[in-house]
Amino acid sequence: MTRSEAPGVPRIHALPERLANQIAAGEVVERPASVLKELLENSLDAGAERVHVDIEHGGARLIRVRDDGVGIHRQDLALALGRHATSKIASLEDLENVASLGFRGEALPSIASVSRLELCSCPAGEEGGWRLAAEGCTDTLSPQPAAHPRGTTVSVRDLFYNTPARRKFLRTEKTEYRHLEDVLKRAALSRFDCAFTLRHNARETYALAAAANEAERGRRVARLCGNAFMEQSLALSFEASDLGLNGWVGAPGYSRGVADLQYFFVNGRMVRDQLLRHAVRQAHHGLIESGRHPAYVLFLDIGPAQVDVNVHPSKHEVRFRDARSVHDFIVRGVRQTLAGDANGVSGAAPVLAPAPAFGHAAVNHAVVREHASAYAGLRAVARDPGRAGNDLFGEALQQIDRRYVVARNAEGLVVVDARRAFRLVARAALDKALAVGAIAARPLLVPAAVAVEEGQADVLERRLPFLESVGFDLRRVAPASISCRGIPAPLAAASPADLVLAIASHVAANPIEGEHSAGEAAALFDAVLAQCDLTAVWPWDHDAMNDLLRQLGRLREASPTGDGDGVWHQLDADDIAALLRSGR
Ligand code: ADP
Ligand code: MG
Repeated sequence: MTRSEAPGVPRIHALPERLANQIAAGEVVERPASVLKELLENSLDAGAERVHVDIEHGGARLIRVRDDGVGIHRQDLALALGRHATSKIASLEDLENVASLGFRGEALPSIASVSRLELCSCPAGEEGGWRLAAEGCTDTLSPQPAAHPRGTTVSVRDLFYNTPARRKFLRTEKTEYRHLEDVLKRAALSRFDCAFTLRHNARETYALAAAANEAERGRRVARLCGNAFMEQSLALSFEASDLGLNGWVGAPGYSRGVADLQYFFVNGRMVRDQLLRHAVRQAHHGLIESGRHPAYVLFLDIGPAQVDVNVHPSKHEVRFRDARSVHDFIVRGVRQTLAGDANGVSGAAPVLAPAPAFGHAAVNHAVVREHASAYAGLRAVARDPGRAGNDLFGEALQQIDRRYVVARNAEGLVVVDARRAFRLVARAALDKALAVGAIAARPLLVPAAVAVEEGQADVLERRLPFLESVGFDLRRVAPASISCRGIPAPLAAASPADLVLAIASHVAANPIEGEHSAGEAAALFDAVLAQCDLTAVWPWDHDAMNDLLRQLGRLREASPTGDGDGVWHQLDADDIAALLRSGR
C-alpha cells in the first residue's frame, strides 16, 4: 500500500510461490513424522515393493525414503515439486473415486519449502537416474544425471532450517523418533505386501519382510504391536453388503492405559477418525474400565465413492456418505467378535491367553462361556439413539474431562456434573425399585473376579442372599476372590470391581446377622453411591449423554422444587455476560 492511494484500503497481491508453499506446509508438515507420512504414501502410491527409510537425529537432520516404485520422468521432476502438480487425479470424477493415498499435489512443494529437499529417480524402463535438488526456488531447477536403480529416493535435510519458529516446536530426538516409528508402523500395517526397513542414526531398528500369508501377517503385527497384543487378540473378519471389516481386536480383558494401540485403516489409508474410534469404543461398552483403552488393528473396506478422504489436509479424517451405517456396522462387527469369544464360537480362531488383567479384576474365561447369553441382555438395553435430549436440559453438545456434560437448551447452556447427575438418577431408580421390592440384576458380559480381603469375603459370603435380593449376583470363587456376574441395572455404568470393593468394605464394617431390612439396602446403596464413580464405564457418547439428560429431566419434572444443587448449572445470556465482565 502506498501513500498516494486511498488511505485504509489495502491492495491485493498474489503471494510469492515460496510463501504460499510455506503456508501450505503449516498444514501438511507439522513435524518430521508428517514428512515421513507423505513420503511413504508417495512410495506406496508408486507401487513400491520395498521401502527403505533412513532417519538422522529424530528426522531433524535427515529423513530419506528410497523405494523401488515406478519412478518419475526426468521432465516431471521439477513439476513434482510444483504446487498442485500430481499424477494421481485429473478430474473431479477421479477425486470421487480416489484410490491413491495422495492426490492434492502439495506434499512435495510444501516439504521443499521448509527443508533442503533432493529428489532422485529412475523411471521404469530407463537406464540411469536423475537428481534434482530443490533449494527453495523451484523454477530455476534442472535435473542432473545420477546413478539410481529403478525407483525414487527423496531426501529431506534440515527440516525447518528456514522457519525458526517451527523448529522451536521440535521435541527431543527420542520423542520425534517415536512419532516417526508410529508412522512407519501404520504404513507397514497398511501394506503387508511391501517390505520395510527403518534405520535411525545408521542403526537398523525395523526390518520387515513382505508378508504373504496369514502366519507372516500375524508375525508382522506381533513385531509392530507387540507379542502380548497378538496373543491376546481376536482375529476378525466381517462382511455386510458393501462393507468389510478385518483385522485384530484385543480380547475382552485386554486393555491399555493409553490409547497407543489403535490402528484404523479405511481402504488401506491410515486414519485417526473420531467416528471410527467411537464405534470401536462403543463396541467395548461394559468391557473396559474407565480410563482404559481398547487395542486394535482394523481395516475397513468400503466403496471409494462412499467415503470422502478430502476433508483434512493431511487426510487423517474421512467423511462417510452414510456415517450412521458405517458406525453401526463397526459396532456390530467388533461386538460380535467380542461376544463370539464369550460364546467360544468365534469363527476366526481367536488366540486367547489365560486370564489377562482387566483393571484390578481378572477375567475368568470359563465363566465367560457360561454367561454368553448375558450378551443378549446387554443388547436389549441398548439405548434408543433416535431421540435427542429433552426440553429442560436440552441436547448434549459435548463432554468435558469425562466429568461434565455441556448441553444447549432454549435458555442457553446447561453444564451438568455427570457424576453427580448419575448419582441422583441411580438413587431415584434404586429407591423406586426398593419400594416395589424388585431390583433387576443386569448380567455382566464378562464377569469380573475381584480380589478382596479374606475376612471381608467371609462376611460377604454370609450376606450373599441379601446382596442378591438387591441386584448383585456375586459368588465367592476363592478364599479372597469374589466373582461378580451381575449388578443392579441402575449401576450399570459403574465398574463392577469398584462396586464389589465398596460392598465388601461396607458389609465388613456393618456385620448384621439375621433378617435384613429395607434400611440396610438403603445404607448399602448410600455407601456404594458415595464410593463409586457411576460413570466409570460409561461411553460418554451423544446418545448416552442425551439419555442422562432425559432421565435428569424426568426427575426434575417429578420434583420441580430442586434447584441445580451442584448437579447442574444453567447459563443464560445474562449469566454469560456477567461471567465475561467479571473476568476483566
Ligand atoms: P500427491 O501425492 O498428492 O500427488 P505429492 O506432492 O506428494 O502430491 O507428489 C507429487 C507427484 O510426484 C506425485 O503425484 C507423483 O507423481 C510424484 N511422486 C512423488 N513421490 C514419488 C515416488 N516416491 N515415486 C514416484 N512418483 C512420485
Ligand atoms: Mg503425496
